[in-house]
Amino acid sequence: MPATEPPPGNAAIEALPTLKQLVGEMDMRARKSLGQNFLFDLNLTRRIARGAGRLDGTTIEVGPGPGGLTRALLLEGAQKVIAVEKDFRAGTVLASLLSAAGDRLDLIEADALKTPLWEMGDAPRRVVANLPYNIATTLLIQWLGHATAFESLTLMFQKEVAERITAQPGDSAFGRLSILTGWMADAAILFDIPPDAFVPAPKVTSSVVHIRPLAAPRHDCDRTALEHVTRLAFGQRRKMLRASLKPIGGEALLTRAGIDPQGRPQDLDIAAFCRLAREIGIPTKGQSPLD
Ligand code: SAM
Repeated sequence: MPATEPPPGNAAIEALPTLKQLVGEMDMRARKSLGQNFLFDLNLTRRIARGAGRLDGTTIEVGPGPGGLTRALLLEGAQKVIAVEKDFRAGTVLASLLSAAGDRLDLIEADALKTPLWEMGDAPRRVVANLPYNIATTLLIQWLGHATAFESLTLMFQKEVAERITAQPGDSAFGRLSILTGWMADAAILFDIPPDAFVPAPKVTSSVVHIRPLAAPRHDCDRTALEHVTRLAFGQRRKMLRASLKPIGGEALLTRAGIDPQGRPQDLDIAAFCRLAREIGIPTKGQSPLD
């Protein structure tokens, strides 16, 4: 197919009723418990879709809701979209899009927290999502554990969370999320979205973050150990490391890793946290506060 020709199904997608019409007709009122803040502006959702870059292989969307971003992904040429949604009402609202898109779109009614997205569809595989804020960081940390399965993750977070994900050592937002992301990936904020772009409007500004996993972690260490040590260090970020890391060896551990015991966690870089992780080895189940 020539590059200029739109992918099959786009004319049928463009002819669909507007999202607002559909949501009104189906009475799909947003549910707070599911973190539902919908985007109806197709120019905006198409901008998010373009931010993902290439859309060949499999594009996985978590929480299509009424389908604003799903439509955008298909219109921007996504070869195959697999949409995972917990709210069963979406099936009715998405019915016309599912039939217009044919086999380019699959809807899976499931809880994304319990779904191994990293095994879905064919590579190259990416996630593009306007995430429910209440589970956004839990999902990100889960996916980072399988980072090499993804070509990219293009995700919407609250701006404050996006800043923590992309922060560098020394930044006030630098913390556990920055380390767990930066260890495995490059991450950047693409653009912000104001509250009034959503229905209903959230209280805060949102940001779209583009995450590109590396072929291998930046520094050698065990991921569970890194999660463990960063959780302890940043659990009490104002305290000196020798106090916050006391349960796993405190001053002696820090000295072995060549780190100032009087330092604070935001002063260390990712390499230093990996040295600490290598020193403690792999925590057993009972030891780790993550369990
Ligand atoms: N993508 C739509 C948009 O941009 O308008 C909706 C985004 S809304 C912020 C989040 C969506 O995630 C909702 O449709 C919600 O039902 C869905 N959701 C919430 N928790 C979920 C879960 N555990 N698994 C899958 N989807 C979930």
